[in-house]
Amino acid sequence: MEHRPPAQPIYLDHAATTPLDPEVHAALLPWLEEQFGNPSSAHGHGRRARAALDDARDQVAAAAGCASREVIFTSGGTEADNLALRGVLERWGAECGHHLVVSTVEHEAVLTTARGLAEAGRAELTVVDCDRRGRIDPALVAAAVRPDTVLVSVMLANNEVGTVQDVPAIAAAVRARNPRSLVHTDAVQALGRLPLDLGALGVDLLSLSAHKAYGPQGVGALVARQGVFPAAQITGGGQERGRRSGTENVAGVVGFGAAAALAERRRETDAAELSRLAGWLTDLLIESLPGLEPTGDPEVRLPGLCSFVVRGCRSELLLAVLDELGVSASAGSACSSGAAVPSHVLAAMGFGDLAGSALRLSLGRFTTGAEVEAAAERVRISVSRVRDGVPPG
Ligand code: PLP
Repeated sequence: MEHRPPAQPIYLDHAATTPLDPEVHAALLPWLEEQFGNPSSAHGHGRRARAALDDARDQVAAAAGCASREVIFTSGGTEADNLALRGVLERWGAECGHHLVVSTVEHEAVLTTARGLAEAGRAELTVVDCDRRGRIDPALVAAAVRPDTVLVSVMLANNEVGTVQDVPAIAAAVRARNPRSLVHTDAVQALGRLPLDLGALGVDLLSLSAHKAYGPQGVGALVARQGVFPAAQITGGGQERGRRSGTENVAGVVGFGAAAALAERRRETDAAELSRLAGWLTDLLIESLPGLEPTGDPEVRLPGLCSFVVRGCRSELLLAVLDELGVSASAGSACSSGAAVPSHVLAAMGFGDLAGSALRLSLGRFTTGAEVEAAAERVRISVSRVRDGVPPG
């Protein structure tokens, strides 16, 4: 039998997580090896750890367009979203009201948290609909705001279909309606891909995660504008100026700082190259695959994220065949079971049954043109196999 070497693996799931950039690796490695210390200790080891933490805070602040003291380090984007929603409700609910407004395309970290708070009777919730492109109309958000709305949360860039929201317009519309309502945006997918500036976005709170921007997993931040002090959800030793207790993940935070600095330095070049490659991949696939429909906003979208629905293909089968052919892709968000579940985002966008036929190919800083060409070919083969009923394996 002819022996064929396995195809070179191609990683096209950067919206799920990114590899560590070598520069990030080099920055955090000393903190896993010879360097250590508790940043709260007063001795030399502690002071050096504190200085490393302070430097990283400055780097993250520069990338987010905020002051260093506005950065609260967390265990990632999920915790940052939770701290924003729960922390604001707990701090200001009694004074401003218990009404939350979120959009229907939010990440589960926001949606599930908001729904959970509503189910527990701790909040009232309005979920604002999107259009077919996944866009949230600022006027609809404003219409949902009430005198007792304490927080509005609308993400900057969608992780499943790449649609970028007009967050400054949304924030302005919310404030015009109720100046006391706070505005949060989940900017986890945006770091290193879109310009970030707390003031220009007009929001009070913004979530970030290191591992979507070539940093380590398990570290992120909630940026909280000065004067906005969400109630701590993890209490203890009072770290992060009382806003998030627990000995800091120094190596992780140092890596996050390096990733943020790199994101800032490389954003424009990375974004231009990602958009070019993603446009090319989309064209290659559309030309050769009937029944493929791009999803999301074709104009205002996250650089490097290609998203489609593929008629006649269930996501889980298509992803299994792609995996066999060495392509790591996704249907949308990566849930903890690893199983593809019909996308709530596509369902909200009106795709009906096609919500179970999603394909997301997300490119990264190290994706090459050769990989794009090879991936297009493997997607074509996989779609034909699934449509012809050839089972994976
Ligand atoms: N928000 C968005 C938009 C995301 O894409 C993700 C990750 O999938 C998260 C939040 C959660 O971030 P983390 O994985 O750091 O908890």
